[in-house]
Amino acid sequence: MAEFDVDLFVIGGGSGGVRAARIAANYGAKVMVAEEYRMGGTCVIRGCVPKKLFVIGSHVHQEIEDAAGFGWSIGQVSFDWATLVANKDKEIARLEGAYTTNVEKSGARIVKTRAVLEDAHTIRLATGEKVTAKYILIATGGAPNHGPAVPGIEHVISSNEAFHLKELPKRIVIQGGGYIALEFAGIFAGFGSDVTVVYRGDNILRGFDEDVRKHVRTEMEKRGITIITGCTVSKVDKHGKDYTTHLSSGSSIASDQVMFAIGRHPNVRGLGLEAAGVAINPANGGIQVDGWSKTSVDNIYAVGDVTHRTNLTPVAIREGHAFADTVFGKRPVQVDHATIPTAVFSQPEVGTVGLTEEEARAQYSHVDIYKTDFRPIKATMSGRDTRVLMKLVVDGSSDRVLGCHIVGDAAAEITQAVAIAVKMKATKADFDATVALHPTASEELVTMRTPTARHVRQAAE
Ligand code: FAD
Ligand code: NDP
Repeated sequence: MAEFDVDLFVIGGGSGGVRAARIAANYGAKVMVAEEYRMGGTCVIRGCVPKKLFVIGSHVHQEIEDAAGFGWSIGQVSFDWATLVANKDKEIARLEGAYTTNVEKSGARIVKTRAVLEDAHTIRLATGEKVTAKYILIATGGAPNHGPAVPGIEHVISSNEAFHLKELPKRIVIQGGGYIALEFAGIFAGFGSDVTVVYRGDNILRGFDEDVRKHVRTEMEKRGITIITGCTVSKVDKHGKDYTTHLSSGSSIASDQVMFAIGRHPNVRGLGLEAAGVAINPANGGIQVDGWSKTSVDNIYAVGDVTHRTNLTPVAIREGHAFADTVFGKRPVQVDHATIPTAVFSQPEVGTVGLTEEEARAQYSHVDIYKTDFRPIKATMSGRDTRVLMKLVVDGSSDRVLGCHIVGDAAAEITQAVAIAVKMKATKADFDATVALHPTASEELVTMRTPTARHVRQAAE
């Protein structure tokens, strides 16, 4: 009789868990996956995918406005939120089905229930059933923070609810200045809502390149989004269907919805981690793992948002894949967390890979900056008041391109391609040797000849 019921038990059927389960099963392992909500996890059900569908839908309004300069006269237009939500739900249900089928095709078995650890080799299902496993992978993801319990917090929605609102809010207040706040600000504004972003710091997108932060803010404000910085939401009052959001500055804002997008926390509560001896990383509250995604317990691994490393879908997928290769494929693989490209699907979009100017200047003695800020060709006829930002951060000593930052249409698509060059350690000379593709916005990346700034750190006396 086998020592354990399964070779691998995966807790969580999201990006990381699904990939690990499929690859391990392909290597011949007997795999069971527990999912307490819907297969596909955050990205598919209430993250990247529905968000991108909403972004695409909300951008149409701008396309219609821009069309006039190209000779189009478009009559009365109208938008129906309920149709958008219903069609999005249909697509998400299709994807959930595809995720389920693909896991089952690989030979792994799905159990639709919550699972927790009883000890290092035993998992307890909500059904009361117990399963023993040689290896356990924790891939339980994360959930929205609610923040400090301000009076009226029960009226506040998170991104989870934003995907299922019965009506499009005419006015919405969004607290936060990161990915989700800015993406939803663009979505709601695109569909016609009056949007106010409330952010506690001096400018949105902390951690991004300073030029990017300034550029995005200016462009979002040009599109009618109000951005209030230097304060927080202190109280939310409800009167009938309306809300009043009180700010720490003393002012208040009336709206139909209030949303917080103030970060996410790893799903570690009630998982039985202590019983199994799995340690938490005190620095970030996620499960502590080494470079192989192994926890403090030899046969238990953790991948994705629950480890609170880089909370992005492609990273969770890579970590899950690397785990399965290492443990079941006899092919040790570590994920390289350096130079991960990322995009904020705000409007305009941000695409970034590698170091910001500030990071490069802290790490390198000689940093050259190539920056351009221009009116895109489309705006010359649409008349839209908008500018694109492109910026390369270059190590002046080795000529290597350390970072690329773009704000404008298709920034995410351009950045994915540039990321290959940056990952390959391409030099500015390699960029210059590449013939431009004309007329595009991204040709600027290979035609910027002269540094706009040079930063040379003097050697310490
Ligand atoms: P998840 O995908 O969260 O999966 C975890 C799963 O575990 C969930 O299905 C959960 O129900 C299940 N679970 C939890 N506990 C248990 C338990 N005890 N038993 C059984 N099941 C359990 N990333 C990008 O790269 N690009 C984007 O554009 C992007 N947009 C986003 C937009 C939003 C609004 C949000 C919230 C996130 C977005 N992300 C994006 C981040 C991305 O969704 C996550 O990084 C990714 O889903 C993490 O994958 P994961 O496998 O770690 O966890
Ligand atoms: P972010 O970490 O991106 O942003 C959180 C924002 O909330 C920051 O502006 C932060 O301010 C602010 N904040 C934090 N705590 C408080 C508080 N107590 N009161 C007021 N403001 C606060 O988190 P998100 O929730 O936007 O998204 C979570 C993660 O999901 C992202 O970091 C990313 O990893 C992933 N994601 C990725 C997307 C993509 O790839 N396009 C899209 C959506 C999510 P401060 O900067 O001052 O700390």
